[in-house]
Amino acid sequence: MKKVYRSVFWILGDQLNSNHSWFENTDDTRLFVIAELKQEASYCHHHVQKVAAFFASMKTFAAALRNSGHHVLHLTLDETAGFEDLQNLIAHTMSKFSAKQFNYQRPDEYRLLMDMRSLSGLMDFEVREFDTEHFLFPYDQIKSDFVRGKAHRMESFYRKMRKKFDILMEGDKPVGGAWNYDKENREKLKKNDLTDIPSPKIFKNDVSEILERIRKHKIVVTGQEMNPLIWPTSREQALEILDFFCEYCLPSFGRFQDAMTCQTEHSWSLYHSRLSYALNVKMLSPREVIAKALKCFQYRQGEISLSQVEGFVRQILGWREFIRAIYWINMPDYSTKNYFSADLKLPDFFWTGKTKMKCMSSAIGDSLKYSYSHHIHRLMVTGNFCMLAGIDPEEVDSWYLGIYIDAVQWVELPNTRGMSQYADGGIVASKPYAASGNYISKMSDYCSSCHYNVKEVTTERACPFNSLYWHFMHKHRDVLKQNPRTNLVFKGWDRKAEDERGLVLQKAQEVIHSLETL
Ligand code: FAD
Ligand code: SF4
Repeated sequence: MKKVYRSVFWILGDQLNSNHSWFENTDDTRLFVIAELKQEASYCHHHVQKVAAFFASMKTFAAALRNSGHHVLHLTLDETAGFEDLQNLIAHTMSKFSAKQFNYQRPDEYRLLMDMRSLSGLMDFEVREFDTEHFLFPYDQIKSDFVRGKAHRMESFYRKMRKKFDILMEGDKPVGGAWNYDKENREKLKKNDLTDIPSPKIFKNDVSEILERIRKHKIVVTGQEMNPLIWPTSREQALEILDFFCEYCLPSFGRFQDAMTCQTEHSWSLYHSRLSYALNVKMLSPREVIAKALKCFQYRQGEISLSQVEGFVRQILGWREFIRAIYWINMPDYSTKNYFSADLKLPDFFWTGKTKMKCMSSAIGDSLKYSYSHHIHRLMVTGNFCMLAGIDPEEVDSWYLGIYIDAVQWVELPNTRGMSQYADGGIVASKPYAASGNYISKMSDYCSSCHYNVKEVTTERACPFNSLYWHFMHKHRDVLKQNPRTNLVFKGWDRKAEDERGLVLQKAQEVIHSLETL
């Protein structure tokens, strides 16, 4: 007999929120559908671990819902590959179960939101939109608190959020007297610190069946295949990695947040939480992550300092929520912004890690091996390099969106185009995050084992970041000098003799023309 459901509830791959109100009660007239989609696995070249993690987490989520008594249809690529697109699959599913009502949670990606909203006009069933019940800052408030195209600063948003949610507050004043302890969070790792770095919590999830499907359906993927997969693929594992972070990493999180090293096998993870994937697919809520960190801070006074916990809270309550608001207020135009008219191709070594620049080979190597690298790699190494060299932000975006396990467009785009490439002209960042080799040398131990010399600017073995930095500043002087924070740099540049400046710019041109061989 044909199975009939009154309503279908569609769950996207990044909507694995088991605490959503949809799941409060079981009901035989409702069918939850979760589907592996070729369009989602193929819109850019994703890292194979990213596709495997999403598909494995979706499967686990479907099983957990079923165990709680819900009716669930979990479709694999084998069942969905024949459908032209998501709308076709939805129409087919609705008709198959004679369902009259279609429900979806508002997608966090503009493209998918448009797809879902267009269903109302196209189909003859009722369509209802729901909030994902994940973020702290209400979606509807974005329009009233943010202005499209206007520069916004994370710090003022963050202070409002601290007050609104009464986090690390004493009345209307911040606990400890300061809102932000960023200046205390910029230590380099010294030799003695290296042995203390915790071994990262990893999992052993068998994804062979998924890898087989990826091959069978010819999904073009990149990066290193890993089976078992080390990333969390269930809520239980996500909670375990949160516990691990609070126990072992939080006490030094802020202190070494910007540090980089290649001297330990844990260089890729350091004290970072690696919670971004679990958060972005909504296996964890930002509220519970913050609550857990605050609880640890409360119980382990003396062991976890205020600056460590504030540094962490700022990332989740501040940056993550702020970035989302920037995305929604500025889409769709944001995805084509190119303030510096950068137009070069991304060098091939971004896909292989084969470059003589030690900092770049480490950052790219981690990304290809783990589908992850920490923030300062993304911002001050690979991102900085692309901006200085003048790589087309379209190419940069597509690399970041594909390569990272946590890359979903709402968070990847403002971070890449905005924060790292300044392609939005300053909507996200108050100045371009441009730095010469000196910054990398200060924050890491890469330079001592690099083919290039960080102290040199124009010689054959000179660190490419050095001439590229001055070339970038010189080329965009007209716009950068208007910013008091970057204008200072030109004083140093102008003090150099004209011949010297000429040599630096000539060296930069040589570097730009030989990007592939660096
Ligand atoms: P931790 O260092 O432990 O930080 C804790 C949490 O804070 C993260 O899990 C994340 O949820 C949040 N957070 C910290 N910084 C940011 C930020 N700038 N924006 C949003 N959330 C933040 N993050 C993504 O989640 N997805 C992306 O696709 C992504 N792309 C990025 C691209 C570039 C060029 C840059 C510079 C940053 C990008 N980020 C992205 C932000 C940040 O680098 C990652 O969130 C972080 O590295 C994830 O690792 P973690 O969980 O160990 O973070
Ligand atoms: Fe990177 Fe330059 Fe240092 Fe080499 S010398 S590791 S290229 S900053």
